[in-house]
Order: sequence, then structure tokens, then C-alpha cells
Amino acid sequence: MCLHASRYQTPVCLGCGGELPLLMAFCGHCQASTPLSVIAPCSYHQGLGHWVGQIKYQAQFAVIDVLVDALVQRILYLEYLGFIDLPQVLIAVPLHEKRLQQRGFNQAWLIAQALSKRLGIPLVDNVLLRVRETQPQAGLSGKLRRKNLKDAFTLSADFNWQRVALIDDVVTTGTTVDEIARLLQQKHTQVQVWCLARAEAPGK
Ligand SMILES: [Zn+2]
Repeated sequence: MCLHASRYQTPVCLGCGGELPLLMAFCGHCQASTPLSVIAPCSYHQGLGHWVGQIKYQAQFAVIDVLVDALVQRILYLEYLGFIDLPQVLIAVPLHEKRLQQRGFNQAWLIAQALSKRLGIPLVDNVLLRVRETQPQAGLSGKLRRKNLKDAFTLSADFNWQRVALIDDVVTTGTTVDEIARLLQQKHTQVQVWCLARAEAPGK
């Protein structure tokens, strides 16, 4: 794979993933609406989506290190620019226990573990739980995606972090991470999302 060519070649908005003409954290629209920051080294549509899919569907774990390396570089660059603060802990988007047993691994957790090692930021388990089994999100419309995830997650009672990064393999519509971020924000926790590839917000 040609990783370099697949990476973002221009500044992109942390909110919507849209291209920016200048080096800024957010586009004008996102500055006004303060969306969740999503940090990824590349667009899902620029060739790497396929590789990220191989982790989940073909258990190609060698891909993780290469893509995590690109993500780490992006995170450190954004921190250097002052666009983000590093989190206290990393939390992987959990799979339901049943799905985990079927698949044998949670790709988000594997990515989070690799990030934790590279950045020296602890990965905490068992604080965010997937308490309800849900249908796969792919193929559902926006409204159904949100309905599908309603009350799917819960936080442990002793959750008390102020600044966390939520880790997923891919962020497409963002429904899953938005749902989890809503829970975390109820605890006044600052949330950012780290993933290997993101799709631009619809309409971009
Ligand atoms: Zn934006």
C-alpha cells in the first residue's frame, strides 16, 4: 500500500473532516457548532478504508502497526500545533460480549493497545460497557442508526476521568462515537475520537 499518498495532503477540519484552505483546527461552520473532534491520518475514501477493513474482516493485524504509526504522527502534530490536548486515558469502543466471542477480538481494542504503547497513555478497560446487543450499523439510515444504539452503552459508576480519547477503527457517520460522547459529556468529560480513517461528514 502507498501509505504516504493515502494520507491527508491538505489541512482538514477536526469536526467534519472537510478540506481547509488554511491550517486551522475547525472550519467556520464547525467553529460555530463545536462538534466532536475526530482525529485520523487519512480519509476513509482515499484508499485506506480497504486496509482498515482487513483488520476487522480478515484479522490482518500487521496492518495495525503501520496505520497506528500514521495516526500517532498525526496526533503529535496536532498537539504540537496546539489543536488538541493529549488525553489522560484511552478507551476503546467496546463490542458486545457475544460479538466479541464470535469474532475473537475487538479491533478497536487492538488499535487502542498499540496507541497506548506508542504514546505511554494508559488504556482503561471495563469503564465503558456495551450492555445491549445491536444490529450492525451498516445499511441503516441515520435515524435508525441512532435508534439502534439507544441505551447500548453505559459507564461504570467509578468513571472519573476529565479528558479521554475514544478509539475506534473507522468513523463513518459518527453515530456510535456521538452516542458514547454524549454519555461521557454527561460526566463533564472532554472527549476526542481517534481512528485509523474517517469519512467526511455528509454533504462535504
Ligand atoms: Zn468542519
